[in-house]
Amino acid sequence: VHLYVHVPFCARRCSYCDFAIAVRRNVPSREFVDAILREWEGRHRHPVWDESPVVETVYFGGGTPSRLDPAGIGRMLARFRADRPLAPDAEITLEANPDDVTPQAAMAWRAAGINRVSLGVQSFDPAALAWMHRIHTAEQVPVAVESLRQAGIADLSLDLIFGLPASVGRGWGSDLDRALALEPTHLSLYGLTVEEHTPLGRWTATGRVVPADEERYADEFVAAHQGIVDAGYEHYEVSNAARPGYRARHNTAYWRRAPFIGLGPSAHSAFGCTRQWNVREWQAYYDSSQRGEPLVGGRETLTADQIAVEETYLGLRTLDGLAAARVPEPARTAWAAAGWARIENDRVILTSEGWLRLDALAASVS
Ligand code: SF4
Repeated sequence: VHLYVHVPFCARRCSYCDFAIAVRRNVPSREFVDAILREWEGRHRHPVWDESPVVETVYFGGGTPSRLDPAGIGRMLARFRADRPLAPDAEITLEANPDDVTPQAAMAWRAAGINRVSLGVQSFDPAALAWMHRIHTAEQVPVAVESLRQAGIADLSLDLIFGLPASVGRGWGSDLDRALALEPTHLSLYGLTVEEHTPLGRWTATGRVVPADEERYADEFVAAHQGIVDAGYEHYEVSNAARPGYRARHNTAYWRRAPFIGLGPSAHSAFGCTRQWNVREWQAYYDSSQRGEPLVGGRETLTADQIAVEETYLGLRTLDGLAAARVPEPARTAWAAAGWARIENDRVILTSEGWLRLDALAASVS
């Protein structure tokens, strides 16, 4: 079983973000941890544990989990461990913003059991960071990396966003070089998407901002692919690259449809063909938790056809690919001829050019 804890608090909302977050100057760490542990009380007795009794990975995502009191992270991990065994080599990840990483925080996270940190870098360009409404500076990133390494957290992932509008004037190549120069074990590269109910959505709707065109997006994606492969990273999933041996095990579990339990507002859980998700807003989640009311906001049971569609999409987005039989002829040969895929050991594996067309290719064979 894989555990996900959604920590919804952020210091302010980034210009492109439509995640389930709660903007708070002061984070209610104690209330949050109490609510998570109340939810855990019911979840650690779920029948899914009968088949998979061990916790393989824990992921604190958000939001900005690094804004929680580190003692609260320790309290959650101690309870998870007391109720269910954690694998001896369990991957325990914390998402952090660079400005939250102090030597003291890094030491406290390590002492709590965190052994992997995913840093929300996004860019090293001050103008781009300001445009994104990020609150950290480029200079804080190497300082954060050093503090984490000093504390004994060597497994570090850096998040970068590509495909910014041309008007932002961001140099993607130099940002990528600066990230690679820090020698992280892992990189996540996300293309900027315009969501309606965000500042970026409004800027775009009023014509104040023109999103990156397809060509710019594709050029940056392909350049990133080449850059990370040349630097010795394995581009093992459309948005993720790792040094050999450092693939993200938690995310890999999602792509392999392993059972996972999500705790916290908006967190999703999946067991076999069942999906469920918690109420989205922090305050509603907290109030329900205090009253002992259900926290589940919705539930669905996937049909065999829906599972097959999901498997196709998930398979094509990773370097593991999809069984060749799942991509009928003539699509298989056409994809290979176009340079979108290669066939290896009876698997269809998309290339970087194929990943640019992931949605369309997956839909065409689903
Ligand atoms: S820090 Fe992350 S979760 Fe918070 S507002 Fe920014 S993008 Fe959204």
